[in-house]
Amino acid sequence: MFDYLIVGAGFAGSVLAERLANGSGKRVLICDKRPHIGGNAYDFYNDDGILIHKYGPHIFHTNSADVFEYLSKFTEWRDYQHRVLAEVDGMRVPIPINLDTINKLYGLKLNALEVKDFFDKVREKREHVKTSEDVVVNAVGRELYEKFFRGYTRKQWGLDPSELDASVTARVPTRTNRDDRYFTDTFQAMPKHGYTRMFERMLENPNITIVLNSDYNELVKEVSFREMIYTGPVDAFFNYRYGKLPYRSLEFKHETRDVEVFQEAPVVNYPNGQPYTRVTEFKYLTGQTHPKTGIVYEYPQAEGDPYYPIPQPENAELYKKYEKLAEARSDVHFVGRLATYKYYNMDQIVAQALTVYGKMEGLKRKEAANVRRAVPTVVYSNGNGKSNGFLETVS
Ligand code: FAD
Ligand code: UDP
Repeated sequence: MFDYLIVGAGFAGSVLAERLANGSGKRVLICDKRPHIGGNAYDFYNDDGILIHKYGPHIFHTNSADVFEYLSKFTEWRDYQHRVLAEVDGMRVPIPINLDTINKLYGLKLNALEVKDFFDKVREKREHVKTSEDVVVNAVGRELYEKFFRGYTRKQWGLDPSELDASVTARVPTRTNRDDRYFTDTFQAMPKHGYTRMFERMLENPNITIVLNSDYNELVKEVSFREMIYTGPVDAFFNYRYGKLPYRSLEFKHETRDVEVFQEAPVVNYPNGQPYTRVTEFKYLTGQTHPKTGIVYEYPQAEGDPYYPIPQPENAELYKKYEKLAEARSDVHFVGRLATYKYYNMDQIVAQALTVYGKMEGLKRKEAANVRRAVPTVVYSNGNGKSNGFLETVS
């Protein structure tokens, strides 16, 4: 008998497995229908010995000290600041759009104050910023919107930016300085020995049983457990009762090139022209030294594995109906990007999972991340002849 069946061994499932086993001494069965742990963050050494990310580039960044400290128990880090170039008008220029982007694109020599004036002149002021188009034209105007965002977004989502929530393009800021980092979070780093090694260390506990290549629908017929944690797509769990929730998919085309360096930046975005959105060269991310190099092209697809919830008002409405069904299931906890239909980054999923664990155990999130079951269990008498469980907080 297991205390928990956890469906999905990505960040959501693995954090909860680790917490329930190490923090609460629970017996956990974690399954994944894929042949590996790590969910979409899974990385591995390919046939050429190059460390690559099977499901596209995963760069860790967070402003949450709690989340960073929590994961630091399972990995050392390699400092890494992510940089992206966009191919526009036959040039490769920094994205997010910054001072250098404008100067290079238009052959200008503006300073930070002048570029602010430039943006003020070209921007189309929007009273209400509702859509992804509003966000960009309100900041940098129509021409830059068309060069950098319109084509990329139509390719990536199969939708015009005017049909997508503001939150999508708002992920990419506009800058008047020369900072060309993709993220400005306080903590930016890559797991030194890769994501999969980090997941292995999270799941290293005799109370955790891992079953791969297994759909939970098969497993539930064979094992008994008290509660379930579900991290797959929420609509699938309820057999699409209200219809399918749209997810966007990708096809990843991995290649090894017989050169030490393939491109001049970790990622090059292709807003216009090509059928793929971006090309990633993994050695920049991992710091690996190798005479060859591994790259991946991302081709957006309507069908296939569900990678992205699609932020649109009508999808949020449909999700609300599934959320109601989920809330009515006190025996199942729905956690993660697919189960809560949120376009969340890895750190947000870790935070969400720690919050769920905290709620299950009556702890605040900071405590939830640190509680460790003392071994051997120290038993205090509470005077009524029964023993208390003992929780130790490790700072
Ligand atoms: P997942 O990782 O999707 O895990 C869910 C698991 O459940 C899967 O392994 C799946 O196989 C399993 N599952 C589903 N149904 C079943 C079933 N019926 N039975 C058994 N198992 C099942 N975030 C960042 O912070 N930085 C980045 O740079 C970044 N880049 C990304 C790039 C791409 C291309 C994508 C798609 C995402 C990226 N993300 C990034 C987001 C990141 O991948 C997610 O936030 C995170 O992996 C979500 O974790 P999760 O556990 O919720 O879901
Ligand atoms: N985007 C764009 N052009 C770019 C980069 C991003 O239009 O060069 C838009 C696009 O809609 C994309 C969104 O901004 O889906 C968020 O970009 P991000 O790089 O955060 O996407 P992710 O890494 O999650 O795929």
